[in-house]
Amino acid sequence: MKYDYLVVGSGLYGAVFSQQAKALGKSVLVIDKRPNIAGNVYTENVEGINVHKYGAHIFHTNIKEVWDYITKFAVFNRFTNSPVANYKGELYSLPFNMYTFNKMWGVVTPEEALEKIEEQRAEIKGEPQNLEEQAISLVGRDIYEKLIKGYTEKQWGRDCRELPSFIIKRLPVRLTFDNNYFNALYQGIPVGGYTKMVENMLNGIEVRLNVDYLKNKEELDRLADKVIYTGAIDAYFGYKLGNLEYRSVRFENELLDKSNFQGNAAVNYTDRETPWTRIIEHKWFEFGKDKNGNDLPKTVISREYSSEWKPGDEPYYPVNDERNSKLYEQYKELAQNEKNVIFGGRLGEYKYYDMDAVIKSALDVCEKELKK
Ligand code: UDP
Repeated sequence: MKYDYLVVGSGLYGAVFSQQAKALGKSVLVIDKRPNIAGNVYTENVEGINVHKYGAHIFHTNIKEVWDYITKFAVFNRFTNSPVANYKGELYSLPFNMYTFNKMWGVVTPEEALEKIEEQRAEIKGEPQNLEEQAISLVGRDIYEKLIKGYTEKQWGRDCRELPSFIIKRLPVRLTFDNNYFNALYQGIPVGGYTKMVENMLNGIEVRLNVDYLKNKEELDRLADKVIYTGAIDAYFGYKLGNLEYRSVRFENELLDKSNFQGNAAVNYTDRETPWTRIIEHKWFEFGKDKNGNDLPKTVISREYSSEWKPGDEPYYPVNDERNSKLYEQYKELAQNEKNVIFGGRLGEYKYYDMDAVIKSALDVCEKELKK
């Protein structure tokens, strides 16, 4: 049978597209090269704990349309991300807020904090040109040195002066006592895990796992009128214009025979010497309880190591510096000439998308593609 759509990749973008297409009566085949669905939001249950196998995913959005959509497929709990930064044993609250400023400088009021920040940001004249300048102009040099520089250089493997400033603008700066990492109206973790949520989205849709699209492209292309491709855009074109750069992440997972390792879901190690960027203790995404509300006796932690992507690794973060952004534009032009293929998602669009932005972009494409 010939399908209307072949969806390559069962992550969020692919799942949204497939779900919407099916709902409008289209026939859809989803393929994924991994042995499981859900792409990088995949969670796996270990001793009653939903482990975020490809890194912590905390859903948050300001877009009501996205929230109304995604909550059809899962109940979300009230988890609020409030990571702790560990700088050589000193603990600081994140994002940067009055608790952070009090610990850093002993300031007590918002006026005192602001005065300190203004004093330190004065060294940056004019529009910040890179991440370092942007960070100092947002929160001053002390916080930059202790909480940003080391972490960022480990995460991106590049000097802060060579990174774009938008990366640091992801983090809020507040003169209030508010440890909520996100400025979002809606936030939470799907109860029962993300895999279950994506399973619900793909309900009734044919999914074939362990299928590598690029290795069997011709044959697979024949199965459908149109392809939704959510893999890496440079891989699609056989890297013919050169490699886009990505950061990859390696996780060291440990099941520990204790109930509480670090007292929080995320602890960032912001010094340069500690080799990992952060440790995630997954049980705290669901308040340390199993699905029946009982305290979990064990815990699973993941140390996260960031590295430069090389062929064979999983790409996680696009490196949106100048070279890569230019190269991406060239690939995008090639993509526009592929008449029957839509490129989408973090890898397909080479964009540092959050989950809600991926969903929004998939919903928008559905609107154009499916309702025409
Ligand atoms: N960042 C930092 N210190 C921290 C946490 C984040 O300097 O303790 C910076 C770093 O440059 C990072 C960026 O903020 O790349 C965005 O962090 P976020 O937590 O949003 O990244 P993600 O969760 O997507 O890895």
